[in-house]
Amino acid sequence: MFDQFQEVFGGVPEGDVYRAPGRVNLIGEHTDYNGGLVLPIAIDMDTCVCMRETANDIGCVYSTSFDQLATMDLNDLDHPSNTWTDYVQGIMVEIRERGKQFRGFDLLIDSEVPVGSGLSSSAALEIAVANAFNDMFDLGLVDLQLIRLCQSAENNFVGAHTGIMDQYISYHGLAGKALLLNTKELVHEVIELELDDFQLVVIDTTVSHEHENNQYNVRRSECEQALEVINGNDFLPEQLTALSQISTEQLSFLRSVLEGRLFDRVSHVVNENQRVIGVADFLTQEKIEKVGELFYESHRSLKNLYEVSSKELDFLVDFARDYPVPGARMTGGGFGGAIINLVPEGKVEDYIQQATFAFENEFNITPKCFVVNSSDGARVKPMA
Ligand code: ADP
Ligand code: MG
Repeated sequence: MFDQFQEVFGGVPEGDVYRAPGRVNLIGEHTDYNGGLVLPIAIDMDTCVCMRETANDIGCVYSTSFDQLATMDLNDLDHPSNTWTDYVQGIMVEIRERGKQFRGFDLLIDSEVPVGSGLSSSAALEIAVANAFNDMFDLGLVDLQLIRLCQSAENNFVGAHTGIMDQYISYHGLAGKALLLNTKELVHEVIELELDDFQLVVIDTTVSHEHENNQYNVRRSECEQALEVINGNDFLPEQLTALSQISTEQLSFLRSVLEGRLFDRVSHVVNENQRVIGVADFLTQEKIEKVGELFYESHRSLKNLYEVSSKELDFLVDFARDYPVPGARMTGGGFGGAIINLVPEGKVEDYIQQATFAFENEFNITPKCFVVNSSDGARVKPMA
């Protein structure tokens, strides 16, 4: 990075290299905004950032992923440009919101996390940049403050209404572990990730239907609506603050009083939380086949009850079942994006080849495939 920095900015970076990884969520989809559980791992693909302070009121940012240099006037940061620089600018805006200051800088971004493949290149970028600012300008932000700042940057400035999982795991992830994260309490339990002779393979369909009718926001408001109906009619003995508080016994009762579509949404959320606990338990016991069954079950629920899958995702999960591999499911918000698969180590190459071939045949699109391993979360390393 040192050489790259010199090439772009004509001088040397100060301080260290800040790295933050992408992530895969093993299970727990659409539970985060319902106060539920998720089970992400940080992966062995990083975004690295290094910087130096300058004597002016300009921020210069270069990303090797886009091969672009951008400059920002630090006295005029309020307006998004709807480009990748918004992620950096959003961090700066949020730092100022917290009453903290910084000066001009040159900043280099070099990332291995594929952009837009559902591996959360955005959170990796945010955490790496926020850590670099935190150190260089002595902002004194710690743990959750920094994680929340990154989420706010993405929510408020970029305008992507994501939960906190991506930033949380990029910051706190651990090699050889998954984190069982309670998104309501923002506390996690460390889960041993014993995959035995299996590998995690991500297949990105590269297709996105996400913006069709704004379905992600529709699901969020359906959940709010369900909560209102349950609370408003005193269907349960206590008032709820989130759907994830509903027990499986209470769910059986709700079947008779909630309208079908709303019941299906609630049913997904409640059972998905149970599946997260199940996968965490089975991982600890090294019962990979059982983990895999819950992956398939999760996908069925996302497809049929929560209705956020797509024909491309379903095709790949059907392929996985027919191949067969022990487990596969869509990961991420849905309406396109990626699936994760549990694949026996010796079959990874063949599996990727055949899945690619089948997908190309069906859709005339080449999917992107990645083998991912767990890794540590954000780290600082000395400039080599
Ligand atoms: P994902 O997080 O799944 O990769 P998102 O759409 O949430 O997909 O975030 C991708 C966006 O984040 C990119 O379009 C870009 O604006 C920004 N981004 C991510 N990584 C980089 C990078 N290395 N350099 C510049 N911008 C990046
Ligand atoms: Mg993202």
